[in-house]
Amino acid sequence: MGRSSSSGLSKSLILKGLQCPKALWLAKNPPTFDFPPQPDLEAKFQLGTEVGILAQQLFPGGIEVPYEGLSFPAQLARTKQLIDSGAQVIYEASFSFSAIFVKVDILVRDGAAWQIHEVKMGTGVKPVNLDDVAVQHYVLNGCGLSVSKSFLVHIDNSYVRQGAIEVDKLFAGEDISRKVAARQQSLPEIVAELRETMRENDEPDIDIGPHCTDPYQCDFIPYCRQHIPENSIFDLRGAGINKFDYYQQGIIRLEDLPLDKLNKAQRQQAEATLNRQDSTDTDKVKEFLATLWYPLCHLDFETFNTPIPKFDGTRPYQQVPFQYSVHVQQEAGAEPQHFEYLAPPGVDPRRELIEQLLAVIPAEACVLTYNQTFEKGVLRNLAEQFPDLAEAIKLRLANVRDLMVPFRRRDVYRWQMRGSYSIKEVLPALVPELSYAGLEIADGMAAMQAYHEMCALKSGDELDRLRQAMLEYCRLDTLAMVRILTELGDIGEHS
Ligand code: SF4
Repeated sequence: MGRSSSSGLSKSLILKGLQCPKALWLAKNPPTFDFPPQPDLEAKFQLGTEVGILAQQLFPGGIEVPYEGLSFPAQLARTKQLIDSGAQVIYEASFSFSAIFVKVDILVRDGAAWQIHEVKMGTGVKPVNLDDVAVQHYVLNGCGLSVSKSFLVHIDNSYVRQGAIEVDKLFAGEDISRKVAARQQSLPEIVAELRETMRENDEPDIDIGPHCTDPYQCDFIPYCRQHIPENSIFDLRGAGINKFDYYQQGIIRLEDLPLDKLNKAQRQQAEATLNRQDSTDTDKVKEFLATLWYPLCHLDFETFNTPIPKFDGTRPYQQVPFQYSVHVQQEAGAEPQHFEYLAPPGVDPRRELIEQLLAVIPAEACVLTYNQTFEKGVLRNLAEQFPDLAEAIKLRLANVRDLMVPFRRRDVYRWQMRGSYSIKEVLPALVPELSYAGLEIADGMAAMQAYHEMCALKSGDELDRLRQAMLEYCRLDTLAMVRILTELGDIGEHS
């Protein structure tokens, strides 16, 4: 989980340059451009640090070369001192060769040579990880160290926590030595080319393409896509045409695209957008409404997931619910009654949450969700965790229906939905007066982030404010479902 130096050609700059030389150049020569606010990556960075520190326990007794509080030369000097004094394991060992600075997550002495162990939060080896370790190997060799083996240490998501974390089970180490060695030959040339790019006075002439999001979402996309007009081929959702094939032929606007080349879904989106045209299949809507019954409970969970499972019986990245909102309607069109739960900070919320939910949702009620896969997955995990409640949970599970269905099937389509069936697009198109705009928490990611923040607070105004914002957001999710169902009811009635 190493970091880059602020100058020179760091490992992260090399990886950026491998994805796109223009991105490297722009990183060194930031353009004057009003970039939209970036998502807050601090929480992700924090998680990465936690995972890195935990993985050190795989090789206990090592000595760390800290990043904070030490200059780059001091980190290099400390590393050399540790190596010379016979250290067996070094965490965050630092090296520089040919003005490339790297930190090795875990460096393990292996006779006269050394093993590199690179720690990642992912659940497998990606090609970009091989490049990452290849740069480390290159720099270590340049510094006169021999590398015997290279490993990618990643999360094993089949691990189920019971009691204290067992690091040897949470992590899996894959030997990537051969693939890393195979990249060594080409690295000097690649590095020379990247240096050449950095020295250029003019911005490299590289157009947008699939490389803008592979392997990472490039930071400069808004800058490089300034010439893309509204209603372009890039607005088309889902699988279908190869957009960059058309882009390279100069076909960028939807109106210039031969519509007969599009599949049914994309054609419908394009035609609806161009003609501002809505469509409704009332028979299909009626059919869908006939699958529901009352009392009807609109249900939404908020969950968090972490690479290091927090509670017994959970796996890495398992969705753990900490909040629900339920709006109950006794009959079609009836004023709903609202119920909610938000876990207190820092406790395992699952037992209390499911007990309260079972008290709110009658066993015979229809349970309406928006994207049932998610809510069903959460309920199944809870049934597994609490065998004494499994029967009761399964009764609710059997009654789950999915409000997303008529929108995914495009039984009801509004041109403003822009090809999406997400509730965030469906709600403003169908119920414009109800909106997520202006909410402090406006999506599931923000809710998860707020939960982590909440767990770091014991009490006080900030905690109260956060809880209020989280309750408001989750409540809106199920209120949105009530209102969308009302709209569907109106369509069914007025056909
Ligand atoms: S947006 Fe694409 S073209 Fe522009 S710098 Fe990034 S990767 Fe390169």
